[in-house]
Amino acid sequence: MERTLSIIKPDGVRKNVIGEVIRRFEAAGIHIAAMKMLRLTKAEAQGFYAVHKERPFFDSLTDFMSSGPIVVMVMEGEEVIKKNRELMGATNFKDAAPGTIRRDFATDIEQNVVHGSDAPETAAFEISYFFNALEICS
Ligand code: UDP
Ligand code: MG
Repeated sequence: MERTLSIIKPDGVRKNVIGEVIRRFEAAGIHIAAMKMLRLTKAEAQGFYAVHKERPFFDSLTDFMSSGPIVVMVMEGEEVIKKNRELMGATNFKDAAPGTIRRDFATDIEQNVVHGSDAPETAAFEISYFFNALEICS
């Protein structure tokens, strides 16, 4: 059993697709083990995306991620990191496969609706950024 962190980004909340995104996760057999809505400060968004701090899109990305409420979730299941990335689709929605969340709802390479951890180590860091052990219901 694996865990991953999922975020419905500010554009996903604004687009009213919280329910649809979660529906897709559950339909794929993924278990939601923790969930909350919150709004990141710019500094908190910078901390979350610290791996990207040298990238040209970092300032714009962290402005965007702190522009409104987000929904953060811990998700559990077999190979859930990979399964979630498949449901999300490619970073750039123009490259995302038909039927993926990003292909269906993203409007921009930045405003791409969802975040998902990309490896077990990043999942562990990202989950602990938002949740403590008592908040996760296996
Ligand atoms: N991003 C962007 N421009 C780019 C690449 C990425 O604005 O050229 C944003 C986009 O919101 C993406 C996030 O930065 O989801 C993190 O980038 P990463 O390469 O980790 O993509 P992801 O893992 O989210 O698919
Ligand atoms: Mg990434």
